[in-house]
Amino acid sequence: MIIAIDGPAGAGKSSVARACAKKLGFRCLDTGAMYRAVAWLAVQQGVAVTDEESLGALARSASIVFLHDEGDPVARGITINGHDVTKAIRTPEIDKAVSPVSAAGPVREAMTEQQRRIGQGGDYVIEGRDIGTVVFPDAELKIFLTATNEERAHRRVRQNADTGVGSIDYAEVLADIIRRDEADSSRGNAPLAAAADAKLIDSTGTYIEDIIENICVLANLARADGKAR
Ligand code: C5P
Repeated sequence: MIIAIDGPAGAGKSSVARACAKKLGFRCLDTGAMYRAVAWLAVQQGVAVTDEESLGALARSASIVFLHDEGDPVARGITINGHDVTKAIRTPEIDKAVSPVSAAGPVREAMTEQQRRIGQGGDYVIEGRDIGTVVFPDAELKIFLTATNEERAHRRVRQNADTGVGSIDYAEVLADIIRRDEADSSRGNAPLAAAADAKLIDSTGTYIEDIIENICVLANLARADGKAR
């Protein structure tokens, strides 16, 4: 069974996806981390974010591996071509590079193929921008998670302060969120959008625990529905 969680930057997708996966006994896939890893590689290799052909070649040949502690369905890190980029993909530099890199058609094709291959391997909560619309349009449960720009920026600053990775400057984080949402929503290829059959959840002013609980209830209903058919 696939649970697709899409939505804009900082809406709480990662926290919600991880907690739901643990509660449900599913595995969890952070597709944003995959696009970030490709953006990191492009920056390392000096490939221009406008050079779609070279970006595509990079994405197709890259070996992306999620690091898991034994028995933990949630990855603790990610490597690309053997480099541990768990922290390096969360810097403001990669925040800037990732939207243009992920807008390149050949990059999306390569990532979509990998994500489908991974997701076919079992029960997954998969978070991203186009999971319910493009990658898994037949997902049994689709969630589109949003919150106001300000709330998302506050959350991201708190998260960055807790992890010690990424900017803790509120104005910088807010500007990045707005810029990325605009770029992700307006691109021609698999833009950020809610699937017609997605459940819309606005997390503004809501306890994250309530959202997790709500999604788990919906997941169990979808699972029961699937078995009954
Ligand atoms: O989820 P996160 O904010 O880490 O994603 C980083 C970027 O990766 C997004 O801003 C977007 O440009 C890209 N992305 C995407 N499609 C996905 C997941 C992420 O284009 N499924």
